[in-house]
Amino acid sequence: MQEPDVVVAGAGHNSLIAAAYLAVAGLRVTVLEARDVIGGNTVTEELTLPGYLHDSCSSAHVLIQSNPLMRNNELRLDRYGLRYVFTDPPLVMPFPDGASITMWRDRDRTASELERFSPGDAKSYLNLLTEWDELKAHHGFLSNSPPSASTVDSDVGRRYARLNARSAKEVIFDRFEDPHVRSLLMWLAFATIQDPERPGTGILPMSVTAGRQEFGWATPIGGSGMLPQALRQLIEDNGGSIVTGSPVTEITVTKGRASGVATADGTRYPARRAVLSTIHAALLPEVLPEGSLPASFVSRVRSWKPGLTLFAVHLALRSKPRFKTDGGLRGSVAGAIGSSDGLLAQIEAHRSGLTDERDPWVLVVNPCEVDPARAPNGGATLKLLTIAPRSLDGADWTTEKHRFATKLVELAASRMDFEEDDILALTPESPIDLEERNPHNLWGSCHGGELSAEQSGVNRPAPGYSTYRMPVDGLYQTGATTHPGGSVSGRPGRNAARVLLADLGLDPDLVVV
Ligand SMILES: Cc1cc2nc3c(=O)[nH]c(=O)nc-3n(C[C@H](O)[C@H](O)[C@H](O)COP(=O)(O)OP(=O)(O)OC[C@H]3O[C@@H](n4cnc5c(N)ncnc54)[C@H](O)[C@@H]3O)c2cc1C
Repeated sequence: MQEPDVVVAGAGHNSLIAAAYLAVAGLRVTVLEARDVIGGNTVTEELTLPGYLHDSCSSAHVLIQSNPLMRNNELRLDRYGLRYVFTDPPLVMPFPDGASITMWRDRDRTASELERFSPGDAKSYLNLLTEWDELKAHHGFLSNSPPSASTVDSDVGRRYARLNARSAKEVIFDRFEDPHVRSLLMWLAFATIQDPERPGTGILPMSVTAGRQEFGWATPIGGSGMLPQALRQLIEDNGGSIVTGSPVTEITVTKGRASGVATADGTRYPARRAVLSTIHAALLPEVLPEGSLPASFVSRVRSWKPGLTLFAVHLALRSKPRFKTDGGLRGSVAGAIGSSDGLLAQIEAHRSGLTDERDPWVLVVNPCEVDPARAPNGGATLKLLTIAPRSLDGADWTTEKHRFATKLVELAASRMDFEEDDILALTPESPIDLEERNPHNLWGSCHGGELSAEQSGVNRPAPGYSTYRMPVDGLYQTGATTHPGGSVSGRPGRNAARVLLADLGLDPDLVVV
């Protein structure tokens, strides 16, 4: 068999996107995945009962819609059955006092909802979106290319930097006054699981809100796993191969250059031109020969901060549930629960090793609203997502996960129209379970680790190595531990592919199917 040009370690959506661009450019790629299924955190599985298809991790593919991969349909993944619904409404938020806010894709219609609480807030909402219209091209430029130490010295660049230096909470509390509206904006700003009180999160109230306004709760028909499945077909059609059940345990280095990998069963996969890794950056010292990484890199990644960790509950329901609104029951793929004060208290509890069911931030995902084939006999799948610490203070996840899941289900049922009898099966997943599912969710982190100043931009994954080129020649890194971080954005994947292609003397702009 001919040796691959590039061996890829890990088959998350980012590394598959990178592999797809490389394969389309004519390079021979082999992808090795530890699990028996590809996709990492973009995967759809039967987690409760036969026939009930759950997105084990991610559901919303919003960020990837503004990646040129999708925006310009560069890889034409629709040919392989990848199809999105831009849901309308994007989101329903029922409050405990019986009030509710429905976000519609028509921004004026959303503003009318907010006007019922505060006319000033309705105006501020439209202003926020208009401001983002002016900043979003700059955001796209920063995200869809490797980070650069020099910030762009333009009026828009300076405005963006000033805004981003603030915290999401400051931006929201300065502009909005009503507690319901503040809760909606805080809930949205937390969608990428970054502490909204941390400076450096100031753009999130705009970027996340505008993304949902434009693309709804962008839902892949068939489930999150349809993205990696489409990429797999494209890679194979272009001569590449994907091997599952093959954890990479070693990246080999020959004469100072990454020369291939070895898997747990001892099989060696030589690479003619490069190795591309999506092994968590903090684990690179474990798989590379000792001494091949500079001490500064090793000490930086060894002190990696995972950030806030996630907890999920998957339910199989007898029928499709709806949300309670002040205008009656409403169907929606996504529902929001939790006040701004509740979220801040929950983050505080998380830091103390405690779960918090008093007034938690909860995302409810109800995909059968637009994709009924994910459950048999008119049933539905439902996911509840919140944060919880990986290490509990005075408790054990084996018992706590069932108790905490029950509390979250009760809370969701109080804002929806399903009852206990409608629940056919339930599977809770603690941060430990999420880590066991995917070694890239290191220390329970599901977004590649905190996006603090020391772990983002030119510092991600380590200062001096943010352009996807690792300290060993021929070794490249992609995935959530690289710029611009986690979520289903595909940006680390496309960016890394472009850098690697250019290094191999190929023009990335010519790689379009
Ligand atoms: C419960 C949950 C809900 C989420 N919801 C959303 C959402 O709705 N929207 C959103 O945008 N984001 C969401 N996220 C975050 C998002 O899913 C991730 O940030 C993103 O999918 C990470 O993609 P990735 O390509 O970087 O890597 P991953 O998806 O983490 O994939 C990495 C792959 O590499 C493999 N691997 C690792 N080490 C090795 C090795 N040594 N050898 C071989 N293979 C290896 C892993 O098995 C895995 O398949 C969620 C995450 C979780 C956990």
